Amino acid sequence: MLPPVTQRTHDEPHGGALGSRLNWLRAAVLGANDGIVSTAGLVVGVAGATDSRSALLTAGLAGLLAGSMSMAAGEYVSVSTQRDSEKAALALEKRELREQPEAELRELTELLQERGLSPEVAREAAEQLTARDALRAHARVELGIDPDELTNPWHAAWASFLAFTVGALLPLLAIVLPPAGLRLVVTVLSVLAALVLTGYSSARMGAAAPGRAVVRNVAGGALAMAVTYVAGTLLGAAGA
Ligand SMILES: [Zn+2]
Repeated sequence: MLPPVTQRTHDEPHGGALGSRLNWLRAAVLGANDGIVSTAGLVVGVAGATDSRSALLTAGLAGLLAGSMSMAAGEYVSVSTQRDSEKAALALEKRELREQPEAELRELTELLQERGLSPEVAREAAEQLTARDALRAHARVELGIDPDELTNPWHAAWASFLAFTVGALLPLLAIVLPPAGLRLVVTVLSVLAALVLTGYSSARMGAAAPGRAVVRNVAGGALAMAVTYVAGTLLGAAGA
């Protein structure tokens, strides 16, 4: 399976909009991937136990809603916490800038030197940055955050909700729409095909070699479906 990507790195190699857009896209693909795998496992398991279309629809829909809401809630909590700590760091920085501007200027100079500027240039740059917007300069150089672009927890929550839902719809429709004799084949094949796609694109966005990521992703999904199918079949046979 794919590694979780809740790490919102502010230190993008290229900085700026492209990096953060890629992060969002990648998070969306991973959310969809979660929706595909968990819903596929769920409906295939139920299909192992029963032929009832309404049971499949109920289970799939409940899984979709539970999963997307839990993803959204988790994302909301995690981004809110991150935002709180970023705000606290900014407030502390603001106070330090007010109470000990000289020490802060030295600190900024040293940080710029660590980034490769000569002492004179670093001092000059630090003075200019401080004159223009001291807090922003410290936020970016020292904390690695942009005070104007803190992630909105509601946006993050909605994005997770939507991504998971889109992913979950695929196995749900694939198990419910085809005639009973075909539903498992259609579901398994479409899920595996979708996992090739999500594995490939998330690896490409993470600048990793796609081959292994695709194999791991497809294997993870196949395993999830196999396990739940066996469990469902056993439960169905036991008449539970
Ligand atoms: Zn500082």
